[in-house]
Amino acid sequence: MAAGGHDMVVIGAGPAGCAFAVEAAGRGFRVALLEAGARGRDKACGGGLMADAGAALQGLDLFDSVTAHLQPAAGLRPHAPNGTGVDLNGTFYVTRRTLFDAALQDAAGRAGADLFRETRATAVERGAEGARVTARTPGGEAVFRGALTVLATGGAAQGLGLLSDARVRRAARGHAMRRFLTFQRPHGLTRLHLWFDRGLLPGYGWAFPVSPTVLNTGVGGPPTPAGRPPRLKHLERRLEADNRLAGRLYRTAGTVGEAAGAPLRTGLCGAPFSGERLLVVGEAAGSTYALSGEGMGKAMETARIAADVADDALRRGAPTADALAAYDHALERRLRGLFRAYDRAQERVARPGFVNALARAASRSAAMRRTLEDVLAERRSPDAAFSPGGFLKHILLGG
Ligand SMILES: Cc1cc2nc3c(=O)[nH]c(=O)nc-3n(C[C@H](O)[C@H](O)[C@H](O)COP(=O)(O)OP(=O)(O)OC[C@H]3O[C@@H](n4cnc5c(N)ncnc54)[C@H](O)[C@@H]3O)c2cc1C
Repeated sequence: MAAGGHDMVVIGAGPAGCAFAVEAAGRGFRVALLEAGARGRDKACGGGLMADAGAALQGLDLFDSVTAHLQPAAGLRPHAPNGTGVDLNGTFYVTRRTLFDAALQDAAGRAGADLFRETRATAVERGAEGARVTARTPGGEAVFRGALTVLATGGAAQGLGLLSDARVRRAARGHAMRRFLTFQRPHGLTRLHLWFDRGLLPGYGWAFPVSPTVLNTGVGGPPTPAGRPPRLKHLERRLEADNRLAGRLYRTAGTVGEAAGAPLRTGLCGAPFSGERLLVVGEAAGSTYALSGEGMGKAMETARIAADVADDALRRGAPTADALAAYDHALERRLRGLFRAYDRAQERVARPGFVNALARAASRSAAMRRTLEDVLAERRSPDAAFSPGGFLKHILLGG
């Protein structure tokens, strides 16, 4: 079967692929959006929508429709190893990825993209004539042709394997695992809780309220010094055993759901951003943050930047490597500094003493809390709170 006649073939319909498809199809390009999963497929995720996700949804004109059925959380409470919790204000939502991704896929369809579910790309060829993507579908093998391929396959190494490029680093820079807890009575959490317990560091744990009776909980962290994935089930047991609140939640939950884990590609590295007739967007391009493992916002943001570049390149002629390198420059200019700051913050947060001191300062100083809120809202760099200079400025000068 040959399904031809598209300008762009997007591989992967998560937040990145859908955001790209909404933008590109909305500008009149013929977009094929290939998704390996069926409708309502789940993705291991905490479901926390932070400020950058909100901004990206606003930019796509989807904020109201996507958040309409969600209750905003009352705020975010990080807990230091010594148990100090700090209440931070901001706009946060918790979504279920089954619903969130289906809503984005529907939006891509409404914008005019052709969505092919249960369609797994197995090979990508790029040449002077165009791009050709071979895929496995329930009906057999299919071929999709376009002027440009967009790789939006997320953190799994298998997707990046489609590139056969020496610059691809298959090992992830982090891993995380989530589990839904369902309660018979309201669990009482209205904030997003983040734990940096001593037994978890350099990793973290979380409990995010999906609804009054459902929590999304989990743990995540960087690889071990030997380069192996962290032992996530072991970390989860430590969270449950050592942390009073988490332990109570696990014990009182009526149903403890199955664990689902996935790699985290962080630090805006691990793959080329572009090439001949190719753009790589979202977590495939390492767009998830170190420290928090948050990535839906930046997945959509990188895709929107890529759509601008694709639009320009296709209107000028063929999407050559030179034309598409504008995407690399845009990511470097707009996001590289921020991602470096998140990497640095992750290194510092690995030290319990630092996190305790930061939490102590934040619980005493409204200026420090405002700085942390500004970091979460992306009004300030993480360095404003997590660098020794930024931290000392608050201690010595009060903000
Ligand atoms: C446990 C955990 C908790 C997390 N919690 C949060 C959180 O609370 N907030 C947050 O913002 N981020 C969180 N993240 C990160 C977030 O999940 C990712 O940053 C985000 O999903 C990346 O979006 P994406 O579109 O790039 O990739 P994905 O969401 O992974 O989408 C990629 C899509 O490509 C499809 N695909 C893959 N290969 C192929 C192929 N060959 N052919 C066709 N389709 C293919 C997949 O089926 C998938 O639908 C968490 C991650 C994990 C693992």
